[in-house]
Amino acid sequence: MFFVIGLLIAAGLAAFVATPLLSRKGAASASLPVDVTPMADLARRRLVVYENLKDLEFEYQAGKIAAQDYQTLKQNYLGEAATLMAASQEAEHLKETDALLEREIAARRALRKNLPPQDYVCPGCGFENPVPVKFCGECGTRITDRPRLT
Ligand SMILES: [Zn+2]
Repeated sequence: MFFVIGLLIAAGLAAFVATPLLSRKGAASASLPVDVTPMADLARRRLVVYENLKDLEFEYQAGKIAAQDYQTLKQNYLGEAATLMAASQEAEHLKETDALLEREIAARRALRKNLPPQDYVCPGCGFENPVPVKFCGECGTRITDRPRLT
């Protein structure tokens, strides 16, 4: 049973490292001349683990490596893959959090921008003059120069 679970995990990890963001690679290299982002670094390391696993598999199939060594090395690589997977999930999560925060900030900025210019709200009728005016566009009341409420 444990063996089956181990196999399933190994298969999952192999599938994980076997798809090292191949589809995103083009986009990433297009926008970033140098891969310096944590995600790109993780992707690169994943690719390395994947290459190592592939080599290991090849050497084992070719009979160049003992079954014992093969298992040990494979476990090492898969362990590394698991660490990288956890790290990339963390990074993805952080990225999502960043995106969320950015949206939040953008929304607040937009809100602030759309706020009526308090300085030009008519004290007489409450009309929100959209542009700086000396007299209310609605009722003509003089809008005094008040200190800005900041
Ligand atoms: Zn007015």
